[in-house]
Amino acid sequence: MSAFKETLYEGYGQELAVEEIYFEHRTDHQHLVIFRNPVFGRVMALDGIVQTTERDEFIYHEMLAHVPILAHGAAAEVLIVGGGDGGMLREVSKHAGVRAVTQVEIDASVIEMSREYLPQHSAGAFDDPRLNLVIADGYAFVRDTEARFDVIIVDSTDPIGPGEQLFTRDFHAACKRCLRPGGIVVTQNGVVFLQTDELRETAVNFAALYADWHFYAAAVPTYVGGLMVFGFATDEPAHHRVTVSTLEERATAIATRYYTPDIHKAAFALPRYVQDVLRDL
Ligand code: SAM
Repeated sequence: MSAFKETLYEGYGQELAVEEIYFEHRTDHQHLVIFRNPVFGRVMALDGIVQTTERDEFIYHEMLAHVPILAHGAAAEVLIVGGGDGGMLREVSKHAGVRAVTQVEIDASVIEMSREYLPQHSAGAFDDPRLNLVIADGYAFVRDTEARFDVIIVDSTDPIGPGEQLFTRDFHAACKRCLRPGGIVVTQNGVVFLQTDELRETAVNFAALYADWHFYAAAVPTYVGGLMVFGFATDEPAHHRVTVSTLEERATAIATRYYTPDIHKAAFALPRYVQDVLRDL
């Protein structure tokens, strides 16, 4: 049995045994491989970095989808930037109040191969009539679109290759431009213990653009190195102050395996070393 060695960090990383490779190809944008591992099931990696696995994807997708939508309370139009595996779309589609989801993914191969080899991720969500799927660069989309959104979910790769522009001030300013009044943007912001610069850069961008911004966290086993942090920014401070009881009312119809209203609120409690990074911007 061969092994997949992750290359995100110099001198540190995880190794996953490869029982079978389903697909491996250099697309127009990145190297894409989908393989089976005896512990995490089917795994997708892009440019040598684990993106998602069958076994632990629910943690990440539930936390990045339900926190902003349930905090908002009346999200009708949602934008997903990236998210080619379809897990984010599956979770967003659980919200009956969401009238339309626009998903902007740069690499059609990721969607095609995820539909074929990771079908449980999208679970049919790519056939949802509310979906407007756009194959394009997410930065160009938010820069140019006339559309407006209540929630923007940046489900991107790390700032490597095509994902790099999704961590810039210009991208965040363009997202702000596309938010409806009271809208919320959330970001995949890396494993904070090892990707501290990403946290700092996003915090500086949020501080320049939004009245109210926070980070929240969850541990996702195959995003190695500890807590993954998610950015949360809005001009409506009431969203972050939503109570557990309000979240319980809003979440009654949403089936989850990780997200709960208590976890929602607790996730925003950050360790001192993370608070120190945000204090010393
Ligand atoms: N959960 C993963 C993580 O936290 O790293 C992200 C998963 S998802 C596979 C990341 C997606 O972002 C990929 O499908 C990739 O093609 C897409 N992507 C990267 N750069 C992009 C860009 N500039 N515009 C749109 N999609 C992009």
